[in-house]
Amino acid sequence: MIDLSPPPYPDLTFRTLPNFAWPDGADCGVIVAWHVDGEAGPMASDRSVVNHVAAMSEAAYGLTTAMPRILDLHRDLGIPGTFFVPAHVAERHPGVMEAIVGDGHEIAHHGYMHENVYGLAEADERALFEHATAVLQRITGRQPRGWSAPGWGVTEQTLSIMASMGMTYDASLMERDAPHLVETANGTLVELPISMVLDDWALFGSSLHGGGVSSLARAAEAETIWREEFDGLRRFGGLFQTTFHPNLMGRPGRLVMLERMLRDMQACSGVWWGTCDEAADHVRRLHDEEPTCA
Ligand SMILES: [Zn+2]
Repeated sequence: MIDLSPPPYPDLTFRTLPNFAWPDGADCGVIVAWHVDGEAGPMASDRSVVNHVAAMSEAAYGLTTAMPRILDLHRDLGIPGTFFVPAHVAERHPGVMEAIVGDGHEIAHHGYMHENVYGLAEADERALFEHATAVLQRITGRQPRGWSAPGWGVTEQTLSIMASMGMTYDASLMERDAPHLVETANGTLVELPISMVLDDWALFGSSLHGGGVSSLARAAEAETIWREEFDGLRRFGGLFQTTFHPNLMGRPGRLVMLERMLRDMQACSGVWWGTCDEAADHVRRLHDEEPTCA
């Protein structure tokens, strides 16, 4: 028989701060964020891929070939970055992590082996979060303050675990344009919204394993879409947070386009540039100053 009862929605409250404004009166915010999936990407669902040397080489390109020139790009433009890294990738490429931290960027949580946590048992999910946090802390010298969901799998349980661990922000949800708050059973998180519009996978996604998928959009097409979105987010006061994968976006032709686009964006007035943890700290401050009802 057809079920016509309302479903049990998660016990979460999403809330926009009434006093939200970008720092220094900016019209919008930009966070250049990277998802450094590396070898963990293809191995997330099938560790036997470790023996598929071609698939591993496709994944490793992001770390060994693309990351040095991505860091050069950030340095040349003076733009801070947030790098979401599966802890296994940090273990495998500690020198790249050292370079990211040495350039003053943020490294944040992205699972251990890029696990999609949707449907995981609570004890398993908590163990995963704690282990990956400990590995990232050991390698980078800092505790990751936020997380972005591999495969965009997020549940109420995930957000509650993050809050209980003292994490500051999540960067996985898509309901709003600007930073806001998520109230969980274990405390409040800052939500830094993402959008599939700014995810390079939609245009350039490629993986050899599992039958292989490959999207080969022109860089110019991506540039058009992202410039349009930047103009719109400036108009409506939102967050332009990228989801760029080094093995996709770090291809030479795409990186040349990205440099051109970022330089033009930097020439625009009224734009706040920062990392996810800086944006989250700003929202936390506003939350602390929030007017309370008498
Ligand atoms: Zn990822």
